[in-house]
Amino acid sequence: MSSETSPRQGRTLAARLTLWYAGAFAASSMLALSVAYFLIVAHVRERTDEDLSDDIEEFSELLRTDGLGRVEEEMRLDTQGDQAETEFYRLWSKDGSLVLGTDLAQFAGLPAPADSLFQSVIGAEPVLATVDLPRREHSVRIASGAISDDYVIELGESLEDDDEFVAGLLGRFAAPAAGAVLLAMPIGWFMARRALHPVESVTRTATEIAAGAMDRRVAVRGQGDELARLAQAFNAMLDRIQALVSGIREMSDNLAHDLRSPLTRIRAAAEMSLSGDRSDSARSSLAATATEECDRLLEMIDTNLEITETESGAVRLDRVEIDLAELVRDACELFQTVAEDRKVEICAEIPARCMLVGDRQRLQRAIANLIDNALKYTPATGRVTVTLSDRGSEVQVDVADTGVGIPYDETARIFERFYRSDGSRSQPGNGLGLSLSLANARAHGGRISVESVPGRGSTFTLVLPRRPA
Ligand code: ADP
Repeated sequence: MSSETSPRQGRTLAARLTLWYAGAFAASSMLALSVAYFLIVAHVRERTDEDLSDDIEEFSELLRTDGLGRVEEEMRLDTQGDQAETEFYRLWSKDGSLVLGTDLAQFAGLPAPADSLFQSVIGAEPVLATVDLPRREHSVRIASGAISDDYVIELGESLEDDDEFVAGLLGRFAAPAAGAVLLAMPIGWFMARRALHPVESVTRTATEIAAGAMDRRVAVRGQGDELARLAQAFNAMLDRIQALVSGIREMSDNLAHDLRSPLTRIRAAAEMSLSGDRSDSARSSLAATATEECDRLLEMIDTNLEITETESGAVRLDRVEIDLAELVRDACELFQTVAEDRKVEICAEIPARCMLVGDRQRLQRAIANLIDNALKYTPATGRVTVTLSDRGSEVQVDVADTGVGIPYDETARIFERFYRSDGSRSQPGNGLGLSLSLANARAHGGRISVESVPGRGSTFTLVLPRRPA
């Protein structure tokens, strides 16, 4: 189900990202163009106002140097012909009566200035205002300013030129704005593809792995950004899964291998007992062999299940206060006969008492297995030393032997289920003893480590907390 929905979701995400990118690109382009447009409009208006204010200053100068007649002449010159349609002048005395004025035919409905205006502009900056006249298509900008202590001049200029300039500009902006909107889609699509590329790479790899290519990995690009970290985490997860899968595969291979020999023996015993010329005692002996092999198989299966349960934490430990010194001493005594049979000396360095809270039976099995292995893998005349040390909050049991030792590259593997060194296959065993010891140690919050020199011997160290955490 998931493999069917994910491509569709991928397309939807790409489409959504495209729309977001395109929207953001178009919006920011439009915003930039709008800001530019409004700045230009404000600049044009400012220029017009400056021109009008400059004109007022020029008229003021003209009045001072050449008198009222020259002012009137200049007003008429400025509004000759077509200019009368776009400009007008009015000169007012400070008491509000009109002194001079140009043709106002094109400016019908122009209101007279308010009385307060005369007071506010004498000796001050000109006042600027925009008015809309009923018969004019474009607004008129009017500047009113004093040109002496007695006269106030009113200059009006149609904003037609400004409006046309701005409209022209708008026309020129329209093409890039439309281009920006049109470009937004392919740019958005391109950016969405780029952003989703690493995700697609992860999806592709996952699909290939699902099809069986377990060794495929996602290419890690970039400098540790979120997607590079996702790829790294994904690859690390795959490494872990692959290690687990190959561990399980190896374990089942070992299991199959270990089941094969006893099953072959059971089959052979059953086959032989079927042949008619066997005596009753021979048949009984074959049946006993088959039973023994079956018991061994059952023990192997039970131990395997016990390891699984202990590792998963499914079993409850029967924790009681125990004297580990006594437990280790008993174990050494128990193996004394085996050690003598093998001509191996067993020494114990154990304090009088060492109290610890733990599951007696499980700790007994863990320690017994270490001693059993030490005796198994130590040739005659060798020595096994069992040491118990009190380390404050922890207790340490060392089982050292002068046996065959373990090759360096196998020291980690011997704790795996069913793993047996090639050199140890001549000895009885099923490769589960150390796995169970380790599972029991861990269930107690402890650990087991090993140091070994091939040909010279090994030391297994079991460390247990004195009390459960
Ligand atoms: P088994 O002893 O039944 O094979 P274990 O799980 O107890 O299984 O041990 C796994 C392997 O570790 C052994 O097959 C052996 O190769 C190695 N090993 C364990 N203890 C020793 C030891 N004291 N000296 C050398 N090799 C050892």
